[in-house]
Amino acid sequence: MCAGAQPNAGHIALARFEKRTPGFTLVTQNVDGLHERAGSRRALRLHGDIWTLRCVECGAARRDERVPPPELPPHCRCGGLMRPGVVWFGEALPEQAWQEAERAVRECEVLLVAGTSAVVYPAAWLIDVAREGGAAVIEVNLEETPYSEDVTISLRGRAGVILPKLLPEG
Ligand SMILES: [Zn+2]
Repeated sequence: MCAGAQPNAGHIALARFEKRTPGFTLVTQNVDGLHERAGSRRALRLHGDIWTLRCVECGAARRDERVPPPELPPHCRCGGLMRPGVVWFGEALPEQAWQEAERAVRECEVLLVAGTSAVVYPAAWLIDVAREGGAAVIEVNLEETPYSEDVTISLRGRAGVILPKLLPEG
């Protein structure tokens, strides 16, 4: 992630697909906010959001996309330090986002997994949940993953190139 990063064609294709597909749920491990910048409104962010600061003392949160931040390190009104609102290694996933993601995957007919090496648990576990529920699983990744042999369709390539072809306009 870098300052001023722009959504790619994959982010944009997903945001447009969301608009015309009521049953569509976007679950992301990205923390860069590019799905939102592309127009996605209902993304479930399993690993939080780098642009949301959370107070380590009182838990207050605020979103700030200014680069560089006006104050380093940032402080809360209560005087406490603010940390990035992302899930660090070893921390629990946000409970509500995780539950909604699990339910959506359990009930889905097709799970499209794009741009992940599928080795980060418990997020990768969602692939198992989908398969148990009888969903078709389409994987899009540059390299083979532990799931490539088992999914319904496995496609090699960049999400930004393949997703616009899988989810064409209209
Ligand atoms: Zn505070």
